[in-house]
Amino acid sequence: MSERWLAPELTWRDGAFERLLGVRVDARGRIAEVGPIPAGATREALPGVALLPGFVDVHSHAFQRGLRGRGDDFPEGAGSFWTWREAMYGLVESLDERRLLALATATFREMRAAGITAIGEFHYLHHADPAALDFAFDAVIVEAARAAGIRLVLLQSYYRAGGPGRPLEGGQRRFDGGSPERFWRSVEAVEAMLDGERESFGVAPHSYRAVDRGELAALHAEALRRGLVVHLHLEEQVKEIDELVAAHGRTPSELLLEDLDLGAETTLIHCTHTPAARLAELFRHGATVGLCPLTEGNLGDGIPALRETDGHRRLALGSDSNLRLSMLENLRWLEYGQRLASERRGLLGERPALAALAAATEGGARSLAIPAGAIAPGHWADFVAIDLGHPALAQVTAAGLPEALVFGCGDEVIFATAIGGRFEEHRPRASGRGA
Ligand SMILES: [Zn+2]
Repeated sequence: MSERWLAPELTWRDGAFERLLGVRVDARGRIAEVGPIPAGATREALPGVALLPGFVDVHSHAFQRGLRGRGDDFPEGAGSFWTWREAMYGLVESLDERRLLALATATFREMRAAGITAIGEFHYLHHADPAALDFAFDAVIVEAARAAGIRLVLLQSYYRAGGPGRPLEGGQRRFDGGSPERFWRSVEAVEAMLDGERESFGVAPHSYRAVDRGELAALHAEALRRGLVVHLHLEEQVKEIDELVAAHGRTPSELLLEDLDLGAETTLIHCTHTPAARLAELFRHGATVGLCPLTEGNLGDGIPALRETDGHRRLALGSDSNLRLSMLENLRWLEYGQRLASERRGLLGERPALAALAAATEGGARSLAIPAGAIAPGHWADFVAIDLGHPALAQVTAAGLPEALVFGCGDEVIFATAIGGRFEEHRPRASGRGA
């Protein structure tokens, strides 16, 4: 791919759409410059297109898309996270490498069509043969991401227990990290598999319910030493908090703040039942909170107390179970959850659409430590291309476009995405024009 200037009608810069701004993409697929296009430069005109940074999804379990159509019937009217988890374990036991590859590839392709160009895959389903601790599924995730052409941050997960003091059982044995030594060898094997450009990695101790307290602290310290991002689930369900309090006399978020040298490398997924004051403390340490509103809604987890924290939130978005894959819908529910819980509007900022878009772009890129999430020099040329001619955007001004996208549109307005400057079209444009 040779260097060229993209000339969209609208370009997202510093939280607003600007007209007639060129984006110079270099031969490696990075953004070299944003500004007026010099006369005589090679240009690719994108009339009727608004460019956003590609969405960054920080939390996915790709295989769980296999539960679509299977985890939402409740014969006794008593469904919960825990009944869903039983269905998930049934799926886990049915998978082999071929089936996982098909599922994960379908998930990653569908993500691209929803504007997601980078994915943090929280990967804990490791083994084809649990008795052998073969980590055979790690390579399958990499292969699936390559097939879909999506940017991958493989968050290699460590999972050791069925609950505080309980051994792994049944399908959980496919998640087994083995031991810290065995786990770090698997991390090194993952690193050797990845290209270091489109693909990078981090580590993900699953949660305090699945990892011993001491092992979790040691794993975090070693990740810091190696300069890796750390992701973990935190306080999604009241039952797991109660179990941890019974075992340690402290909630998971109290353990985290007591045990870890917490900083910007860490992303905490869900925080559904974390008290507001503790959320604020996590933000003060520089940690990111990764929210997955569509999955949290489907599982009946609850609504995090974001509205009770001040303006210094560090948020990112994830698709988690991938039951429904739409970043725009996820953004909408981030704000709607807060509104429904408080009977007020606009709690995430004066313009909540901007806060939501920031979480889905720059917040996600920060969480995964990748140069993405902004249309700015030095960042990957990863974009969402919005079809301004789509009927859903008729009568919408450039100033109101962020709100129109977040509150008024579905993925039908996303006609293409680019990764490293290469566009792929996902659906026809209303005008019939191509990218
Ligand atoms: Zn998760």
